[in-house]
Amino acid sequence: MTHNGRCYCGAVHYQITGPLQAQFQCHCRECSYITGGGANLVAVVNDADFAFTKGDPKIFARPDLETPVQRYFCGACGTAFGSVSPSRPGAFIVKVGTLDDPSVFKPQAAIFTCDRQSYQAIPEGLPSFDKRPPKPAQSSQS
Ligand SMILES: [Zn+2]
Ligand SMILES: [Zn+2]
Repeated sequence: MTHNGRCYCGAVHYQITGPLQAQFQCHCRECSYITGGGANLVAVVNDADFAFTKGDPKIFARPDLETPVQRYFCGACGTAFGSVSPSRPGAFIVKVGTLDDPSVFKPQAAIFTCDRQSYQAIPEGLPSFDKRPPKPAQSSQS
């Protein structure tokens, strides 16, 4: 259950030693800035299962927001690794494009479709949500 990943230039590497939990594509406006316009394809992993193994990523958080997301990226090539979000404490949200094997990604939901552009495709049959899905996405609670 180990997944390795890195940035485009290879200065920063990371390793995931646990399961990919929730996997989704986010269509929110904020994500569009980071992806360059497409949906943001991410997998949620336990913080404890995620470690940078080579190099040091830079971290950006918007100073104008009260509880900003912390965004991790390579200071050399700019590749975004993902984020730590106040809405998901104890988790690292990994951008699947940085995995050595991005084919492991299996989206379970499309979220924040309220901001979706028509050129951002949603696979047929994928559950989609205006905002966040009722928590948690991976198991029923009620
Ligand atoms: Zn890099
Ligand atoms: Zn988003």
